Amino acid sequence: MLGLMQTSPLLISSIITHAARHHARAEVVSREIDGRIVRTTYAALERRTRQLARVLLALGVQPGDRVATLAWNTARHVEIYYAVSGIGAVCHTLNPRLKPDIVSYIANHAADTVLFVDPSLTGLIETVAESVAGTIRTVVVMADEDHMPPVALAPGMQLLCYETLMAAADADYVWPVLDENTASGLCYTSGTTGLPKGVLYSHRSTLLHALSVNGADGLGLKARDRIAAFLQMFHVHAGSIPFLAPMAGAALLLPGRFLDGPNITALMNDERATVGWGVPTIWLGLLRYLDEIGEKLPTLRRVVVGGSAVPRPLLVRLEHEFGLEVQQNWGMTECGPLGTYNQPTAQHEDLEEDAKLDLQVKQGRALFGADVKVVDDAGRELPWDGVSAGALLIRGLWVIRNYFGPDAAAGAGPDGWFDTGDVATIDADGFVQIVDRAKDMIKTGGEWISSMELEAIARQHPDVDDVAAIAVQHPKWMERPLLVVVPKQGRTPGTAEVRAHFKGKVTDWSLPDAVVLVPELPLAGTGKVDKRALRERFALHLLTGEEAAAAGE
Ligand code: ADP
Repeated sequence: MLGLMQTSPLLISSIITHAARHHARAEVVSREIDGRIVRTTYAALERRTRQLARVLLALGVQPGDRVATLAWNTARHVEIYYAVSGIGAVCHTLNPRLKPDIVSYIANHAADTVLFVDPSLTGLIETVAESVAGTIRTVVVMADEDHMPPVALAPGMQLLCYETLMAAADADYVWPVLDENTASGLCYTSGTTGLPKGVLYSHRSTLLHALSVNGADGLGLKARDRIAAFLQMFHVHAGSIPFLAPMAGAALLLPGRFLDGPNITALMNDERATVGWGVPTIWLGLLRYLDEIGEKLPTLRRVVVGGSAVPRPLLVRLEHEFGLEVQQNWGMTECGPLGTYNQPTAQHEDLEEDAKLDLQVKQGRALFGADVKVVDDAGRELPWDGVSAGALLIRGLWVIRNYFGPDAAAGAGPDGWFDTGDVATIDADGFVQIVDRAKDMIKTGGEWISSMELEAIARQHPDVDDVAAIAVQHPKWMERPLLVVVPKQGRTPGTAEVRAHFKGKVTDWSLPDAVVLVPELPLAGTGKVDKRALRERFALHLLTGEEAAAAGE
């Protein structure tokens, strides 16, 4: 027998409709291309979203079409998220930090038809125009007429102005009732191994993910919160913040293209942010800036960190010096993106400070709607003892089944479990701890060394500001660990003293063989340290004492 309750489908348009009706005056604040702050409300934004739906239809966008964005975090980008998915098309966020040939590979792979581009990124469109002209016919610059840059496109492509199109559009559109499994968003992996693959989110997966992440043991936003979104909207839907904030009626603070210390400090302090969410590199950069100028973050209460492991010293400083609550989460493009979120349980209330920190540096417990397990090489589930490390598998309501398009043969197994490519442990309370990405582990002789563990120890050295541990070639052991260190200002830690710092903390065969000092670590397109680039650069270091690039010159 069927229940007698209402069965309206789970649709993304319901989020913005709810925000406009029930949180009409809550603000969306963005930093514009010229650095100005502009503010709007959910009511005004929702109206513009319906106008934009009309614009899309007038441009000939059909249900299922991929509409691409190449843009920073701004209110217009939020409008595009909702309008494109709202009409039944697919919002495909392109990452402007990827190399132009990868951007055109992805645009062609996705068969994007229309592209919305931030005015500061039109140079990239000019670079790729010829190679994407077979699929992208229309480029809309997200600006008004006064801020339209000259853009040279390929023959047959039309260039349009966002605000001119909007001015001519009615807001009388009514969101259609779609099947909740309709595709809504397309995000590509960053392709750290092989070519990027597309992950096609649905209305249902997006809505269920947002509902679960906004639970009290997750992000749990409230209407009185003001969240600064430093995760990029062009990567994994910015952790879903553009859905989470309006769902709760929290104010949404968007930094535009300005992610430097002064600008993010000003955005948080001037706009009274209560929560900020970004990758560790954002917070490390912010602390460096705050140290220089001696400023604090008076309104901020919570820092949310994910995307890569939270360094312990970062956690300690944010909590102790700035009085902030730090919450870590773990996710990836293939799982919507979040799988786990770290909030303490009742068992942990009486823990000593150090034991609490041991817990906080873990990646958290599975959100409701997702399940995790660790397995050995034969696929057998390992015990939840906090020690047994194996491949981390996840399945759930917003986890990938198959990749998009020609890559559909790959994805989750027939039982729904998806191998994340991470190696992890799970403890008795269900806290997942990532040991390493499988491909970043250092294989020496027959043993494996976790690069993340070496980095965590190195960060406790007083001269180390930032660090990456990588595998480099070794004639006898195949691979040995090398530490690439960004030293604190004026310090020059040497190999011998850093090795001495490791003594007793790891087995002797895990001691890094050498330390090289660099002014900064290279970042990949997602704002994480580009270990592949470091491995290539330093591959021969132990063989020749030279960097690969220098040796090849
Ligand atoms: P890509 O794989 O394309 O770089 P993703 O954002 O999908 O981009 O990366 C997901 C990976 O990031 C995870 O598999 C994991 O290795 C890493 N990651 C994400 N969050 C954390 C975290 N809190 N701690 C450690 N690693 C993390």
